[in-house]
Amino acid sequence: MAPRIGTPERPLRVAIIGSGPAGFFAADALLKHEEHVVEVDVFERLPTPYGLVRSGVAPDHQRVKSVTRVYERAAGHERFRFYGNAEYGRDLRLADLRARYDQVLFATGNEGDRRLGIPGEGAWRAVPSGVLVGWYNGHPDFKDAPIDLSVERVAVIGNGNVAVDVARILAKTPEELARTDIAGHALERLERSRVREITLYGRRGPAQAAFTPVELRELGELEAANIDVDPAELPDADPEDADAATRRNLELLRAFAARPRDPSRPRTIRLRFLRSPVRILSDERGRVCGLELQRNELVRDETGRVRPRPTGEVETVEVEMVVSAIGFVGTPLPGVPFDEERKRIRNVEGRIVEADGTVVPGLYVAGWARTGAQGLLGAHKKASAEVVARMIEDLAAGRVPDRPLPPREAVEELLRQRGVDVVTFDDWRVLDEIERQRGARRGAPRDKLTDVDEMLATVREG
Ligand SMILES: Cc1cc2nc3c(=O)[nH]c(=O)nc-3n(C[C@H](O)[C@H](O)[C@H](O)COP(=O)(O)OP(=O)(O)OC[C@H]3O[C@@H](n4cnc5c(N)ncnc54)[C@H](O)[C@@H]3O)c2cc1C
Repeated sequence: MAPRIGTPERPLRVAIIGSGPAGFFAADALLKHEEHVVEVDVFERLPTPYGLVRSGVAPDHQRVKSVTRVYERAAGHERFRFYGNAEYGRDLRLADLRARYDQVLFATGNEGDRRLGIPGEGAWRAVPSGVLVGWYNGHPDFKDAPIDLSVERVAVIGNGNVAVDVARILAKTPEELARTDIAGHALERLERSRVREITLYGRRGPAQAAFTPVELRELGELEAANIDVDPAELPDADPEDADAATRRNLELLRAFAARPRDPSRPRTIRLRFLRSPVRILSDERGRVCGLELQRNELVRDETGRVRPRPTGEVETVEVEMVVSAIGFVGTPLPGVPFDEERKRIRNVEGRIVEADGTVVPGLYVAGWARTGAQGLLGAHKKASAEVVARMIEDLAAGRVPDRPLPPREAVEELLRQRGVDVVTFDDWRVLDEIERQRGARRGAPRDKLTDVDEMLATVREG
């Protein structure tokens, strides 16, 4: 009789695509499973692991990044393997994985920027936040992004934590930034930055802003920036249905509004509400020179949700750079059903489904690729464990076909044949150590390598 799948003789073999929090928390839950023996291979398109923990979370938020210790522990497991620099869709197709794994879990995140969809978005110095954040965090895709900081006034569209991150990084002094793991190229340019005024625009009111109180509070603690909140834009009293975070946000905003301006601080962060961008204006050379905004009022829709409604009043502000920070969307992967409307992998509770709702056997999705870009790192532990529970449920219910699989090394052979220069977790450890040593020279936790070829050469030399 063939050994049961999920036993030491015939472990359940799982491929995870993407090594961000969702992928790593899923790997951890699979490897720790008490009843079943699981082998986990993680494929990551970059030579470096950890997804947005490395390339999204702000460089001055090192405490948040300490979650990688959990991932490192999972990576140390004898049944875990990491294949960095191996991209699903480019180096591997679904059929390759189907032939070698019992189950495939996609944890590829949401890598596209949501567009504003207004005229002028293509102007020079109109920058989606994913590009700016990727640039200052040293993501290889954005290391050469044309970020021009020779400007004085920047508008940031959006009222979430990413918008606040962007404003804070643009407002910090070189001294504040040098101690972070900000990319070297970004630090250099920020040292010469001429930015003086950063204005965040929210389409709804202060009580509907999505930023969290911790992030908001930090804006008031910067060495070189005043914070400017117009008291006339704040509600006199907290809305009755306001949750604790909203009440705290309003309390902070009122304190900011009452704060006298410190003339010794060269920069200002302004928070402005009830305004939606309608057009980005550019000069004769195609560079951003202004932003047209429509004023909104708040109305409750039939579901009780508070929504912005244009008042008809339009204003134009002079700015030389516009950063849109209004969220992220997924991009379709070959062979994987995609929900075009919601811009994410089509799924029901983590099981990938066709448009008609039919479950695609053996395919799963976790993290932002499953839910869309919402929620903090901590939430992925539980959410990925839930998807893993469904994978194990399918195994227990006999929905994993009992068939012989090629030896585990077969995928390595395949990648070699395709000329993929795979980065293992040990290779990553070498890079990690080198980055830390480079960082120590400027008193920073790390100084990132940002070029894929350089990373590969470094690994091969080291
Ligand atoms: C700018 C920003 C700042 C944030 N700051 C915080 C914060 O301070 N605190 C907090 O709690 N949360 C923060 N978050 C949220 C947090 O980063 C996300 O909740 C989390 O990273 C999502 O995890 P994920 O694994 O789904 O996706 P990701 O972290 O995006 O990981 C996806 C991984 O898949 C890889 N990948 C994609 N496509 C392929 C492919 N085809 N083949 C192989 N690999 C692929 C990517 O390279 C990436 O490594 C922030 C998010 C952003 C965007």
